[in-house]
Amino acid sequence: MTALTEGGRVGPGKPKVGWMCSRHSFRRELFFARQRTLPTVVTLATLLPMGRLLLQSIMQDSRHADRLYSRPEAFNHKYDFIIVGAGSAGCVLAARLSEIAGWRVLLLEAGGTPPPESYVPGLVGLGYFRGNNNWRYITQPQKYGLKNYHNRQAAIPHARVVGGGSTTNGMVYVRGNRRDYDHWAALGNPGWDYHNVLHYFKVSEDYRGHTDNYTDRFHSRGGPLGVTPEPKTGKLARGFLQAGNELGFRVVDPNAADQIGFAMPEYNVCDGIRCSTAWAYLRPAATRPNLHILHSAHVLKILFNKYKKATGVMYKYRGQVRRSHSHLLTFMS
Ligand SMILES: Cc1cc2nc3c(=O)[nH]c(=O)nc-3n(C[C@H](O)[C@H](O)[C@H](O)COP(=O)(O)OP(=O)(O)OC[C@H]3O[C@@H](n4cnc5c(N)ncnc54)[C@H](O)[C@@H]3O)c2cc1C
Repeated sequence: MTALTEGGRVGPGKPKVGWMCSRHSFRRELFFARQRTLPTVVTLATLLPMGRLLLQSIMQDSRHADRLYSRPEAFNHKYDFIIVGAGSAGCVLAARLSEIAGWRVLLLEAGGTPPPESYVPGLVGLGYFRGNNNWRYITQPQKYGLKNYHNRQAAIPHARVVGGGSTTNGMVYVRGNRRDYDHWAALGNPGWDYHNVLHYFKVSEDYRGHTDNYTDRFHSRGGPLGVTPEPKTGKLARGFLQAGNELGFRVVDPNAADQIGFAMPEYNVCDGIRCSTAWAYLRPAATRPNLHILHSAHVLKILFNKYKKATGVMYKYRGQVRRSHSHLLTFMS
């Protein structure tokens, strides 16, 4: 196991501003200063802002993201549901819950809006740059591992942005193995068996590939989440699949019946754009009057009543500490 440290984290209790600027934070800054190689410095400081300007001029959605994901200017303090984190899961939750017009939903995200480069599948690696829309986690110095790392510590990317991991990750669409779901159901979690879950995978999916008699019942079209099979079938890819064939493995669809074999990946990409959950779910829901979204709002504390039920959150937004309360549920997504 690898333990994580995160110098800027504010734990439960009152905001620990003093602690944030302390020895811990200083060590983290020192770590990042030492890790910054020349290409990273040049890219982050000069090329990235220039590239962002260029992309923003082309991509309308990225230009309007700040307004879209920061609504409304004046918000209430009482909601039916509060969701902490507009990540992969949080965006879906917010969009689905706010389909019920009578429910008021608040979605709070510590990070900012998706940067222009996150929309472009080919620029996927930029999301892994330390400090670029992530929490800048580093491991504790390792006793046995990371021997060629400075101080035996490594950076671990973890998204801090609207869309969460789905805005910065590798976009590979993998549903997982049927046996895991069936096992969870067998442990006493009704509804988690593969047959049941497959229904939801299909409802959410807009599959852009070809299916055959064998794979058709695992995919569907028209859902919010775009899924596109690897478009490149170059020499190397064909050689890879053929090599598997020669070893006696079939070419399979990784999200269909059989996962033992060789496959080309499927990606959360739609019409050439990263299909994050912010794009697929939150964007179409963002203008609903019953959904309030605040990015750059760091939740500091979950508030509990005397029965130990979560009743709301305390969070920092634009330099002010605020509270919001939920009638029904507070989710940590
Ligand atoms: C480098 C990398 C590559 C990956 N590649 C793939 C891939 O190709 N395919 C794949 O399926 N999976 C991939 N993953 C994993 C996948 O992205 C995650 O499993 C998934 O995003 C987790 O979703 P989540 O909703 O649980 O959390 P997240 O998406 O991480 O969302 C959590 C959100 O909560 C916010 N938050 C946290 N604390 C607070 C707070 N106190 N106040 C307010 N907001 C807060 C965070 O900023 C974040 O936006 C990858 C992960 C990484 C790190």
